[in-house]
Amino acid sequence: MARIAYVNGRYVDHALASVHIEDRGYQFSDGIYEYIAFYNGKLLDADAHFKRLERSLNELEIGLPVAPAALGIIIRELIERNAREDGGLYIQVTRGVAKRDHVFPKNVRPALVMTICGAKTPKPNEFADGVKVITAPDRRWGRRDIKSVSLLANIMAKQEAARQKVREALLVREDGTINEGSASNAFIVSKAGTLLTHPLDENILGGITRDVVLKLARKAGISAEEKAFSISDAKNAAEAFITSTSINVLPVVKIDDKLVGGGKVGEVTKKLGELYNAHILKQTGKVI
Ligand code: PMP
Repeated sequence: MARIAYVNGRYVDHALASVHIEDRGYQFSDGIYEYIAFYNGKLLDADAHFKRLERSLNELEIGLPVAPAALGIIIRELIERNAREDGGLYIQVTRGVAKRDHVFPKNVRPALVMTICGAKTPKPNEFADGVKVITAPDRRWGRRDIKSVSLLANIMAKQEAARQKVREALLVREDGTINEGSASNAFIVSKAGTLLTHPLDENILGGITRDVVLKLARKAGISAEEKAFSISDAKNAAEAFITSTSINVLPVVKIDDKLVGGGKVGEVTKKLGELYNAHILKQTGKVI
C-alpha cells in the first residue's frame, strides 16, 4: 500500500510530497507540530492533542487553515488511505510561504502538512528491563511549552544520547534542575514513595502522556506532586521513568553512571505502565 501524505488540501504520494522553499517553516522554523498515536485506526487522546495544537498556534498567532471539524475528517481519510491499523500521525502547521522577512507576513495562508508513520513503541525488553539515560545541558529557547518545529537543541542532545548508546537525554538547567527529556517528560518516585514531575511552565512541553499518567496515578492513590527535582534527586530516587506518545511509560534504570532503584524497574513504574496500557485499551481496543 502506498504511503500518502496530506499537503495543503491534497493527498499525495509521500515520496513526492513537498512544500515551497520559501515556506517559513523551512526558513525560520516558524511553525508547530503534533504527534498523535493511533491504534485500530483510533486516535489516542485526540482532544488533548488538538487542544495543545490550538494553544501552540495561538501562542504564535498562526491560524489553522481548515476548520477543526474538517481536520478530523481529513485525518480519518488520511489514516484510511495509508491502510494502517496502528501508527502515528504528524500534523505540522507553519505560517506559510511569504517573502523573507522576520516580521509576520499579512494575508498568508498557513501551510498544513500531515504524514502517517508506523508505531514507534519501544521493544518489549525495554519496558521489562528499563533503559539508560544521560543528563545534558538544556540549550533550548525560553518557550519550551510551545510544540515548535525548532528542535535543534533537542536533536543535538538526543544525538549525544545515541553516541553514548543510551535511550534518552534528560535536559538540565544551569542550577541542576531536570526539565524533561529531549523528546519526553521525566518522572521520579522519591524514596518516600511520592511521584514527582516538573510543573507546567515555560521550561517544559506539557506532555499529553504526562498529564494522563498524573491523573492515573492520583486515581490509583499514588501521591503525586508537580514539583521540580534536581539531577541528584533523580540519581538517588527509588524509581525513574520517562513518558511520551511514542514510548508510553518507559522505565529508567540508569542515569549517567548511577543505577536507579538498584538497576531494577520499580513497582510504581510498573503499575503506572499497566494503568497506561489499560488507558490505551479502553480508548482504542488495542492490547499493548
Ligand atoms: N517533551 C518534549 C520535549 C517532547 O518532544 C515530547 C514528545 N512530543 C514530550 C515531552 C512528550 O509529550 P507527549 O506525551 O504529548 O508525546
